[in-house]
Amino acid sequence: MARILIVEDELKIARFLELELKHEGYDVLITGDGRQGLSMALNEDVDLVILDIMLPGINGIEVCRRIRQESQIPIIMLTAKDDVTDKVAGLDTGADDYMTKPFAIEELLARIRVALNRKQNKKEPKLESLRHGELKLNLSSHSAFYGDEELSLTKKEYELLEYMLKNKNIVLSREQMLNNVWDYEYFGDTNVVDVYIRYLRQKIDEKYGIHLISTVRGVGYIIKD
Ligand code: CA
Repeated sequence: MARILIVEDELKIARFLELELKHEGYDVLITGDGRQGLSMALNEDVDLVILDIMLPGINGIEVCRRIRQESQIPIIMLTAKDDVTDKVAGLDTGADDYMTKPFAIEELLARIRVALNRKQNKKEPKLESLRHGELKLNLSSHSAFYGDEELSLTKKEYELLEYMLKNKNIVLSREQMLNNVWDYEYFGDTNVVDVYIRYLRQKIDEKYGIHLISTVRGVGYIIKD
């Protein structure tokens, strides 16, 4: 069953929520302190956070912002007043949903179910880097490193390398590489692939004295483990 963290300093509300959530079968953690809530949200294997905005120490909006720097865990914000500013600020910092106190518990339970389902349906986080020996690609910044040294690759050189590493141990034909890495302007002109393979070999194989890219005669190229 899902584990829910309640960050709420009003004891009566916190206890009420705890009882209701436990009754629904959830595992419940509870704290009245923003700082502690932040640490529990990040370290206690929590599936969802119910986060009050008005908290002593650091407030709920700040807690939400800091959770979001490290985690995509669903967050439902609570506030005592129907304050549009709070609502906007909460959603801006990455809260998934928002409820104004006093609220009907059934509505909160429904929103919890929605948020948990959405979390389950989210795809696996995107791959952030690719490694091959000393070679490392940072997929979000489109940069490549050999050891600690950044390679100065052009956009196309990088894209070709990424494509080949993602298809490691597969022989790639020139047509496949052309179709997946280049635009229509080079349609059918597979010489461009050979040219870029040569660039990559100069910048990686030759520079670092390794054998990264192999030619498969009559077929294409391959990066092998
Ligand atoms: Ca409060």
